[in-house]
Amino acid sequence: MISEVRIPLAVWTRLRATLLADCSVETKCFLLCRTLESESRVVFLAREVVPVSEEAYAERSASLVETRPEFVYNLLLRCAREGYSLLEAHTHPWSVNPRFSAIDDRSDLQKFQTTQRMSPPFRHGSLVFGNDMSFEGRFWDYQRARIAPIVRLRVLRAPLETRYGTGQKPLWLDEAEQTVYDRQIRAFGAEGQAMLSHLRVALVGAGGLGSQIAHALALLGVGQILLIDPDRLELSNLNRVVGASYAQAQRGWRKVRVLAQRLNRARPPEARTITPLPYDARSPKALSHLLGCDVIIGAVDSAVVRQYLNTVAMVALIPYLDAGVGVRSKDGKLAQGGGQVQTIIPGETACLACVERGIRQSVEEQLTPHQRALSLLGGYIQGEPIPNPQVVFLNGVVGNLLAWELVKLATGCAPVQPYIYYDLLQQQAFPARAERNLDCMLCSEHSDSLLGQGMYGLRGYIQQAHKRKRRGKPIPAPRGS
Ligand SMILES: [Zn+2]
Repeated sequence: MISEVRIPLAVWTRLRATLLADCSVETKCFLLCRTLESESRVVFLAREVVPVSEEAYAERSASLVETRPEFVYNLLLRCAREGYSLLEAHTHPWSVNPRFSAIDDRSDLQKFQTTQRMSPPFRHGSLVFGNDMSFEGRFWDYQRARIAPIVRLRVLRAPLETRYGTGQKPLWLDEAEQTVYDRQIRAFGAEGQAMLSHLRVALVGAGGLGSQIAHALALLGVGQILLIDPDRLELSNLNRVVGASYAQAQRGWRKVRVLAQRLNRARPPEARTITPLPYDARSPKALSHLLGCDVIIGAVDSAVVRQYLNTVAMVALIPYLDAGVGVRSKDGKLAQGGGQVQTIIPGETACLACVERGIRQSVEEQLTPHQRALSLLGGYIQGEPIPNPQVVFLNGVVGNLLAWELVKLATGCAPVQPYIYYDLLQQQAFPARAERNLDCMLCSEHSDSLLGQGMYGLRGYIQQAHKRKRRGKPIPAPRGS
């Protein structure tokens, strides 16, 4: 069993400031977290930093730190009351790539055994930081009653910051990858390519736009691609689903199967990691896959599904890239067309719920008066159902704009644009303002927002979906806090 920690940038900044405030002595603080649980992995979602005040230290020197028992006891009471898990963090201020000391080993084991009876759902872990915020981490695997490693720590910023614990294997490229991706390595470096090669991406939507994105991800060498879409291929899809054959459309193959088969063939046998998942994105089956991803991409025309993916991304602290296209025609003439790509980093850039109105205004300000009038009339921008017709060249442009944002997010080779709008008739792509709503119920830092709330935050949504369906099919009870 292994674990990772996901931290919004604001929480990371606070953690860093707290731990590195005084590097002449060891410092301690606590992270209140939600968790996401699967059979092989626990994800800690950091919500709040709890600093230790001077009087709450029992001992504090350059080589030792101990908090008063009553301070920890009160914190554990709060965890039990509010459903939090706990990560203890302390510093070894003299070191880089720190390791737990023998004293840490004894004290952690004792603490973990003491809180064992609070589990499940409680999870207890420990982190030690060096003076450059390098770290080593571990948590208590209560089912097997033993210590397991916290492998990596992900800070949600652009570009994504992934820190591996001391002694954990760094990212690498094997020889075959170096050959295949040679021209890309020349563009954004071996480290950048290694980031892409180890990325696990869920792509929701395997239609015209989704198939363009899937091809770009596969060619970029994205390590794991999960294709999620329940739809079957129809003859009328053949003008835009890249890679589909006439026979497959006649036989009504699932779109995800068409894409996975074709894209896997372009890879060596051991790297055929493009997985077709013919599920509704909002089904419990799809949810467990979404929660395990590094990035979620949405290429769907339903505003409801988009909002759902946005919500999953916020509660689980996963970056979400959303793309949409729309074309309007009148009397056989193309009156308007365009599309947008939004890159959403939970807690850092605007989410879908933040922007609805703001984005529309910003894009419309940049259109010609005629286009603006049409836009107001039809409103194909953000959040509206996509009208027919559908054309491959627009999908190609917008799909690849999204692929470019993903590369920037993963590799840091250029600054991420949170919102890009492409106007088909003007043949222009331009960034639009996407300001965060500081009161957003999904992504703000308010104590009751859904940011980093894990299953705790999704419960209401799932119950509602369940009620709507009324099929009596049991949805597995969320595990963990
Ligand atoms: Zn928001």
